[in-house]
Amino acid sequence: MKERVTVVSFDVDGTLVPMEFNNLVWMEELPALIAEKRGMSLEDARIYTISEYEKVGEGDLRWYEMNHWIDHFDLDTTFETILSKYESRIKTFPDVMPTLEKLENRYTLILTTAMPREFLEVKIRTIKQFFQFDFSVISDFKQVKTPESYLTICERLNISPSELLHIGDHWEFDYVAPREAGANAIFLDRQRKRVGDFVIHDLEELEL
Ligand SMILES: [Mg+2]
Repeated sequence: MKERVTVVSFDVDGTLVPMEFNNLVWMEELPALIAEKRGMSLEDARIYTISEYEKVGEGDLRWYEMNHWIDHFDLDTTFETILSKYESRIKTFPDVMPTLEKLENRYTLILTTAMPREFLEVKIRTIKQFFQFDFSVISDFKQVKTPESYLTICERLNISPSELLHIGDHWEFDYVAPREAGANAIFLDRQRKRVGDFVIHDLEELEL
């Protein structure tokens, strides 16, 4: 496998960038705005918000679209307002820079994410220079991460799936889906719950 890989793909949220920003936006800011608008307690608003998210689910494109939720909850804010409020809280995990520096001259590095492009630009500001391509499967292909979206990426890069290695922290979207497409995949389990040949707990465990 190692000899044939030419392109290394990284997921972003939970893989390169901690979930703190997402948690602030989705679990704090939106419930707080809903609580204010509807005169609910923050706790009730949070329960309500999560139940609305769950009705849609992460297999649905609407799950990822901030503007969908702003409309859905009828909030008096904009995507840009929310983003600018929390932008300074975005960081990368400590193992990210050393890993990218180690790999950048030996592989084509790309990003493959299910977050909309307008979020992606902000999230990767400090690491953008390492990546030759970035794919927001939501914005670019109107898909979540499926075997088809990985195949489309391979077509765009003019490589066979066996030349692609994808690394990410979601079992189904980052591990099962690329493998079903015939690509290589490594599951990054930062919670250290799984072990196995294609499981790592820290990016510095990558042997490439
Ligand atoms: Mg992720």
